Amino acid sequence: MSQSYDVIVVGAGVVGSSTAYNLVQHGAGKVLLLEQFSSLHTRGSSHGGSRITRRAYNKPFYVHMMDEAYRMWDQIEREGKTKLYTNTGILVFGPRTSPDLKKTIASLHINEVEHEVLTAEEAMLRYPHQLDLPFDHKCVFERDGGTLLATKAVSVIQRLFTEGGGELLDGHRVKEIAPGPIVRVTTNNGDFTTRRLVVTAGPWAPTIMAQLGVKLPFKFSIRRAEVFYWRVEHPELYSADTFPSVILYDDTHHPFYAMPICEYPGLVKICPYATVCVDPDSRDEQISPRVEDIQPYVAKYFKGVSTTPSIYEACIITKTPDEHPIIDRHPGHSNIVFGAGFSGHGFKLSPVMGKLLCELAMDLPPSHDLTPFRLDRFNKHSSKL
Ligand SMILES: Cc1cc2nc3c(=O)[nH]c(=O)nc-3n(C[C@H](O)[C@H](O)[C@H](O)COP(=O)(O)OP(=O)(O)OC[C@H]3O[C@@H](n4cnc5c(N)ncnc54)[C@H](O)[C@@H]3O)c2cc1C
Repeated sequence: MSQSYDVIVVGAGVVGSSTAYNLVQHGAGKVLLLEQFSSLHTRGSSHGGSRITRRAYNKPFYVHMMDEAYRMWDQIEREGKTKLYTNTGILVFGPRTSPDLKKTIASLHINEVEHEVLTAEEAMLRYPHQLDLPFDHKCVFERDGGTLLATKAVSVIQRLFTEGGGELLDGHRVKEIAPGPIVRVTTNNGDFTTRRLVVTAGPWAPTIMAQLGVKLPFKFSIRRAEVFYWRVEHPELYSADTFPSVILYDDTHHPFYAMPICEYPGLVKICPYATVCVDPDSRDEQISPRVEDIQPYVAKYFKGVSTTPSIYEACIITKTPDEHPIIDRHPGHSNIVFGAGFSGHGFKLSPVMGKLLCELAMDLPPSHDLTPFRLDRFNKHSSKL
């Protein structure tokens, strides 16, 4: 006989884990979180040492969501008795003409987020031994920006979920979902039933949603993200106390980001945003890392950094065409909700995204406007199959 639940969440990445944590906090009843691989695996999007967190977004709605995300991260740290956030500050820079940089500065200004606009010269005075910026570049520094410990955060959120009474089953791959007032979920390890279902399957979302008759937008892309760590001559110049998190905007859109030394002693993280499209089930097959995409930037902008990476790791970024996630209800089954396509913002915003998915699943009024995240914004290309 199958076990029955009030809510089942499919996918225990950072978004599914945050959703499950919010559900137990909101008294959703018996909640089950299902994960296909072993817990804290490295096959999806949420693993690794660190992620950037910032308010420096060119969309005002993210700035508002980040206010709440910072409060929620603080609560997760306190409840979980684990430090996850380090305030490094974040320096966003690019050519003076960069539209993304202009919009970011405007958004910080309109939303009264503390920031400083710096010329390239001023930024280099601040980081004389680390940065080499062309004089036609401009920067904005956001003091509150920083880093979050990624795998550690997922583990703390999952612990708070299970301590709150939730059940996490890893090694359970969902193979079939039969919708209805009671949803039947079939896995490789047994069947379950539930009154409400949340799908947070990351790069596997198109497969699961297609089974449920929902087509995600044309150009919903699943890309291998390459993470490189580079040896520095003087580690003390690239520590969280001496070097900020960094994002470069240029005309090719987010060519790279950098973070102070965190996970590996003496190695700074400098990475391109995302590269080639992949099938998540064969992410690492027959593909060699594209170091040449990032090497010129490392040599051009950073001082005292080796131009050959010491460590390479792979991850997956799942992008929608407008790079905003989809948070919505199944068009034909109101007790099924889903979140997908969290692009490069999913980690820092995950507590809020989890809260929104929890509210949607429990038919509660949403804490933020969901209009920018609806599936039907892509209405030309997304539809019921
Ligand atoms: C290299 C890299 C750098 C990034 N940098 C930042 C950053 O600086 N700041 C930021 O905010 N964000 C960043 N992101 C983005 C952020 O990490 C992602 O948006 C976020 O982790 C997405 O989480 P998710 O839960 O949607 O997906 P995932 O973590 O992939 O979780 C989905 C889970 O669902 C499970 N699953 C799928 N199908 C099934 C099934 N059939 N049955 C059971 N389980 C299933 C998968 O195994 C997986 O564990 C970065 C991402 C990468 C890869």
